[in-house]
Amino acid sequence: REPRVRKPDWIRVKAPGGTAFAETKALMRRLNLATVCEEAACPNIGECWTKKHATVMILGDTCTRACAFCNVKTGMPRAVDPLEPEHVAVAAAELGLEHIVVTSVDRDDLPDGGASQFVKVIEALRRNTPNTTIEILTPDFRNKAQAAVESIVQARPDVYNHNLETVPRLYPTIRPGARYYASLRLLESVKTHDPSIFTKSGVMLGLGEERLEVHQVMDDMRSADVDFLTMGQYLQPTPRHTKVMDFVSPQAFDAYAAIARAKGFLLVASSPLTRSSYHAGDDFAKMKAA
Ligand code: SF4
Ligand code: SF4
Repeated sequence: REPRVRKPDWIRVKAPGGTAFAETKALMRRLNLATVCEEAACPNIGECWTKKHATVMILGDTCTRACAFCNVKTGMPRAVDPLEPEHVAVAAAELGLEHIVVTSVDRDDLPDGGASQFVKVIEALRRNTPNTTIEILTPDFRNKAQAAVESIVQARPDVYNHNLETVPRLYPTIRPGARYYASLRLLESVKTHDPSIFTKSGVMLGLGEERLEVHQVMDDMRSADVDFLTMGQYLQPTPRHTKVMDFVSPQAFDAYAAIARAKGFLLVASSPLTRSSYHAGDDFAKMKAA
């Protein structure tokens, strides 16, 4: 199949700028925090940062992996910043976040894969901003997954997110450092350890996946008891990254959402610009109020 080149007109985003945007950026630099909004070149940064919603990326800005879709730098990361957990809590307080999403790069170089830093961040947030709900979006922790999940679950985040990203057939090209079933098992083990934690996962569409493969991923997630699902359009961050194979129409995203709801997900976000953390707080609050 030939890749698609032209962006359709439904991919329209708000240009970054304005006072709130500049303040969010300045705060992150002052606290020495990386954000996935910037590092992943998220198309929603203009909208989110204007509302002072930002997703912090802990454990530095350099990843030990190199997924074909991801704009985050790859290389040998720097030492873990011991001040980072407190800085995340300061950011949550200053931005006034009712819900924070904290993600990280993959740190296959660390003995615990970075799990203890997630725990410290959760603890710092609970101490400093006890009313903020916490959603973490973790790596797969490779062969350290069981110990990592156990320790993070004990710190009791409200939502544990881990993205499957794509259908299993495309893993060797899109997510070569990861294993589909290992990621599913990680999600399942969160629920086994603590059924009160909501689990969440997501896929990018437009990478060449077939409709029935997406349905199968939904079934796999539900069989691992995943509660929330996000689906968004993959956009190529630079010409070095894997190409867009399809622009999935907004109607097709709606159709996927209807199927996902019928399969029993509690929360489904599905649109071209949906990202793991896009409107995550609003959606979570609405679900809890329902
Ligand atoms: Fe950041 Fe998430 Fe918004 Fe993108 S959708 S700008 S990653 S908060
Ligand atoms: Fe990007 Fe995560 Fe892959 Fe690292 S592991 S390259 S941060 S998607």
